[in-house]
Amino acid sequence: MKSSRTDRKGGPGGIAGIGDLRRPEEECGLFGIYGLSDAATHTALGLHALQHRGQEAAGIVAYDGEQFHSHRALGLVGDNFNAPEVMERLACHVAIGHVRYSTTGETVLRNVQPLFADFKFGGLAVAHNGNLTNAYEIRQRLVQRGCIFQSTSDTEAIIHLIAISEYGRVVDRMTDALSQIQGAYSMVCITQKKLIGLRDSYGVRPLVLGRLGEAWILSSETCALDIIGAEFVRDVEPGEIVVIDDKGLHSIKPFSKSPNRFCIFEYIYFARPDSVMEGRSVYDVRKNIGAELARESHVDADLVVPVPDSGVPAAIGYAQQSGVPFEFGLIRNHYVGRTFIEPTDQIRHLGVRLKHNANAAGLKDKRVVLVDDSIVRGITSLKIVEMVRNAGAKEVHMRISSPPTTHSCFYGIDTPSQDELLAAKFDVEAMAKHIALDSLAFISIDGLYRAFGEKARAADAPQFCDACFSGDYPIPLIDHDKDPVQHQLSLLDERE
Ligand code: AMP
Repeated sequence: MKSSRTDRKGGPGGIAGIGDLRRPEEECGLFGIYGLSDAATHTALGLHALQHRGQEAAGIVAYDGEQFHSHRALGLVGDNFNAPEVMERLACHVAIGHVRYSTTGETVLRNVQPLFADFKFGGLAVAHNGNLTNAYEIRQRLVQRGCIFQSTSDTEAIIHLIAISEYGRVVDRMTDALSQIQGAYSMVCITQKKLIGLRDSYGVRPLVLGRLGEAWILSSETCALDIIGAEFVRDVEPGEIVVIDDKGLHSIKPFSKSPNRFCIFEYIYFARPDSVMEGRSVYDVRKNIGAELARESHVDADLVVPVPDSGVPAAIGYAQQSGVPFEFGLIRNHYVGRTFIEPTDQIRHLGVRLKHNANAAGLKDKRVVLVDDSIVRGITSLKIVEMVRNAGAKEVHMRISSPPTTHSCFYGIDTPSQDELLAAKFDVEAMAKHIALDSLAFISIDGLYRAFGEKARAADAPQFCDACFSGDYPIPLIDHDKDPVQHQLSLLDERE
């Protein structure tokens, strides 16, 4: 098997029936600037703040008024955008950037974004976060028409659709292309004249608009506006295309409105806690979930211990609500970039130990409540519980700030195939036994919605996309039923 996830806490895999294909699952960060003399340097800073959204590759494409300049590389932003000769070449007033996370089989330069192409109307660079759910179908149709694909990225299918569109203006060509794709996505693009940002009509993936003086900024998260001192203007709306040029900002809503289904997992795990998404502070939501968890499933204990870093805000909320003292009983090593060096079970288990260690000082003879954001395969929890017990804890309870992850994500968050999800195999009691816990509880789905100030999950019109917990997929999974072997996107095995 060529493609396997290697640096997730969850390990290798991909979406059910598709994970074994050489097809990237994108977890990405986007950034773009129009109208700043040093747009690329600011874009590199923005990407640095979005590094948590993807660590495998980074790229910037900038336009100097005559020519586009591109630098794309495997690895971290800080390692690739620090050389003066690179930044000098990119010094332009318009730029977009991308950080990417994908399967190892796909970690080749040809898939690193932004992708660039020369069209009839001029140059266009595109960076994309999310997953198309009909990419394979579209690709097949395009290949039959004679389109030659250079990558296996979903983004390239969009580029071909733009190229063959019979409309004249670039924005009309884009709208034409978007009307043919299905999926959860945000995009930022630059042409010779414009910076363009857009979100899918359900608004599953994030994109915000900011300003720095006269310049306009687009970013996956507000934390990247903060790093350059830009002010937050608003979220790009679901289904909206914002076009920024020398006349200012122009908004287009070419598609009929779909119900908003922002990804609830951005709040639970994926986004940075200092970001504000759709008007809500990610940190506050996580704390509220922790408080709700304490109300729903209190247990007598001496300490609340977060699984760092992602469990910290929920653990604070849990501790404040329950009155049980909060302690850092686990310490995380921040210099471990990749949890899984090799996709074998043995190394994966070792990987968790590299990342976390029990802080034995305070755990002896204590009844401990561990708080984490999710259980995927259960490997992290299994190891952490063992560590905490070895450090002398008397009882180990676990509280999870998401409902059980029973379904894979097809919309841009990396989850393994359903048969690898612990919660798809076991009920909560069996999971507790498997992880060797004294007790285990997950936030209920309605409790989760209460943490957002909702009364409950509106079953007929849920306020978020929560497919990973409910199996309710708002966007049709068109490629999903295709035969995995035929589904392979490229016959080329390329390494760098
Ligand atoms: P597992 O060890 O497979 O149960 O993974 C659970 C851990 O992975 C939790 O501590 C989460 O913080 C983390 N996690 C959950 N979802 C993801 C994801 N999509 N990518 C990376 N890590 C994740």
